[in-house]
Amino acid sequence: MVILKTKEEIATIREAGKILYGAMQLVEEKIQPGITTEEIDLIVENYIIEHDATPSFKGFQGFPRSICTSVGSQVVHGIPGDRVLKAGEIVSIDIGVNKNGYHSDSAKTFVLGDVDDEVRRLVDVTEKALYLGIAEATVGNNIGDISRAIQTHAESNGFAVVRQLVGHGLGRSLHEDPKVPNFVERDPGPELEKGMVLAIEPMINMEEVDVLTEQDGWTIVTKDGKPSAHFEHTIVILETGPKILTNGTSINWEDII
Ligand code: MG
Ligand code: MG
Repeated sequence: MVILKTKEEIATIREAGKILYGAMQLVEEKIQPGITTEEIDLIVENYIIEHDATPSFKGFQGFPRSICTSVGSQVVHGIPGDRVLKAGEIVSIDIGVNKNGYHSDSAKTFVLGDVDDEVRRLVDVTEKALYLGIAEATVGNNIGDISRAIQTHAESNGFAVVRQLVGHGLGRSLHEDPKVPNFVERDPGPELEKGMVLAIEPMINMEEVDVLTEQDGWTIVTKDGKPSAHFEHTIVILETGPKILTNGTSINWEDII
């Protein structure tokens, strides 16, 4: 069941999203070759706690850390640890923030130093796919319109869309209905309505769609060992169009009625 959010709930999710954006900005400042994924985790965890919020992922279904750090061929759900990041690598940082009982969720793939041109292109195409997907999140469209925009952009650039993992609704729970696939399904999914809050999150692989779960039970990796990129924003659907809740731009609250 899709839970439509009230203006007050959207404002609370926006607060969670602002903290998340601040944390992501801090990652942008600190991330560089030589840092460990564990150090990034602690930087983000401290930032979230200092802002009177809690990391959504810590303890979620037993996840041991506050953020997910997925390096290279790791797609999502990588567990921070003593791995030292190196120039030439890409790393996806996924953060969830719970403020006053409501969640926000956002991810970004960072490029460290000089990377291979094709890997750089994968990252750029994945980010663009996110924004093309968001642009379709309008009242009267279906979930499938978001999916189609993402899949078309990824595949027309020669990349592969992960099938086993999808975006999602969120609010009081980190994962709510509806599912937001990054690929077209026969069922176009629910029609989009004002007050829906969605995490749209393309996960795009360099070559093959298949992914595997590593021994730790969390880390998802590409089966072919080639790189994967991931971008995500939490958005709300308004009469006037989609609004991103996990970036720095301001919102005209008059729009939210
Ligand atoms: Mg996420
Ligand atoms: Mg998510």
